[in-house]
Amino acid sequence: MAKGTPKPEELTSSIDYNPPKTGWTETPVDFAEGTFCHGARPAYLETVGFPNAREWAPADEDWKLPENWKEIFIEAMGERLKKYRSFQLFMDICVRCGACADKCHFFIGTGDPKNMPVLRAELLRSVYRKYFTAAGKILGKNAGARELTVDVLKELWYYYYQCTECRRCSVFCPYGIDQAEITMIVREIFNLLGLNTDWIAGPVANCYKKGNHLGLEPHTITSNLEYLLDDIEDITGIRIEPTFNRKGAEILFVTPSGDLFGDPGTYTAMGYLMLFHELGLDYTWSTYASEGGNFGFFTSMDMAKRLNYKIYAEAKRLGVKWILGGECGHMWRVLNQYMDTWNGPADFMQEPVSPITGTRFENAKSTKMVHITEFTADLIKHGKLKLDPSRNDHLNVTFHDSCNTARGMGIFEEPRYIINSVCNNFQEMADDAIREKTFCCGSGSGLNAGENMEIRMRGGFPRANAVKKVKEKFGVNMLANICAIDRAVLPPLMDYWVGDVSVCGVHELLANALVMTGEKKRTQDLRLEDLPNVEEDPETEEGKEETA
Ligand code: SF4
Ligand code: SF4
Repeated sequence: MAKGTPKPEELTSSIDYNPPKTGWTETPVDFAEGTFCHGARPAYLETVGFPNAREWAPADEDWKLPENWKEIFIEAMGERLKKYRSFQLFMDICVRCGACADKCHFFIGTGDPKNMPVLRAELLRSVYRKYFTAAGKILGKNAGARELTVDVLKELWYYYYQCTECRRCSVFCPYGIDQAEITMIVREIFNLLGLNTDWIAGPVANCYKKGNHLGLEPHTITSNLEYLLDDIEDITGIRIEPTFNRKGAEILFVTPSGDLFGDPGTYTAMGYLMLFHELGLDYTWSTYASEGGNFGFFTSMDMAKRLNYKIYAEAKRLGVKWILGGECGHMWRVLNQYMDTWNGPADFMQEPVSPITGTRFENAKSTKMVHITEFTADLIKHGKLKLDPSRNDHLNVTFHDSCNTARGMGIFEEPRYIINSVCNNFQEMADDAIREKTFCCGSGSGLNAGENMEIRMRGGFPRANAVKKVKEKFGVNMLANICAIDRAVLPPLMDYWVGDVSVCGVHELLANALVMTGEKKRTQDLRLEDLPNVEEDPETEEGKEETA
């Protein structure tokens, strides 16, 4: 945990739901250490093509803005009001019913009224009224309008980089006002002033240059996978030999680079490798489209479109029939909500058909991209996998619905179906914390930096609290999910608020249970930890007997 992060009890005792004594327009923003991300460094801004590349820090008095920053902001807002009818509507139709007010994890974890979705949007609506409505222009403050000053700009930046674009509030809004869309648009306008964050511009810059957020070179990707293949061989006795950048393969597989590099994502990658090998799938990895994640999506439609296109350009280059996508969050929201408009339809490929079951994935008719949990659930449903769920008997699992796959594309059943097929112990969290009402991890939309740990722990508080309840009631010790960001950010969140709950991808659980053809007797799980109920075989040294 970052130095200076308050202890959990200090943090909970500091949450105060009483409104401040001053009105919201008179309460200045406090750039307190641990609550915001670093400003993007000049090199990153230059690489991603944003203007005003300079050293700057959000807590600085002087943000070194362009002289005409106000005109740039207002003009850009006007353009987007015309371009996106939804944005215009969201500025006009809120009736202040308050249904969204207590639904944001950042409000729950901070008590700050400006983290109520309704007030977060009001910060911008006040500017909208001033510059785009007759009442606001004439009546000013009396019509809820306010001037765009440097202080207002800073307040907007602070609170719009305290929204994870999770869309939980929109589920409860009777008008379906999508705060995430508003946040994306505001952040896009900030980009015109050079006001991106280091942790968003950096990964996108890496992606532009190297093809993935982590900046992994092709040889690093292949050698990282070699380490995973060594571990798989130790565990199963089977040597897997995947292919890379192979033209003519039937399927291109794309997953977030986090799965290739950091635990526990690497165990999920081992799961993919083992499953595909067992199926004899005609597929290839790519060291060019080596990133499923899309950090551009948090902040710029153009960036997101370009990052999404890279996957399709590679599919075209390799001549594959369709794309299979791994356990990722934003890759899928982009795919499901935006791809067809931006880069689709991908008519150079074929409608995906599982080569194992013959299932036609009609939902992927246009995008030609199938979610790995759809693919695997279909295999299980057709009895194509030999599974031994008792290998996961040391785990008591609950499932975190990732905002992007849950609210962004409605993937609820497939991961649960897989988990229930490969584990004997599964517990749901409370109804108001799962499926479309799921709570964000608190670190989505590019907030998963190291310097803003306090706000991450605050934002993740409702999610952690729901896990804590199933841990206390049922002894849950594993939090499964289908998102690489979740696999990176939930471990520190669990350590901070809950303790003794690990985090995994669904395909790690699947591969633990998968009985592979020709495998040796397994004694370890994918983490090289002893499997439960494994007795030493007296006839063979250390139980290294091959199964029939
Ligand atoms: S989208 Fe999520 S983070 Fe943003 S205001 Fe709504 S609930 Fe809060
Ligand atoms: S729920 Fe919708 S209409 Fe009601 S206050 Fe929130 S944003 Fe406005």
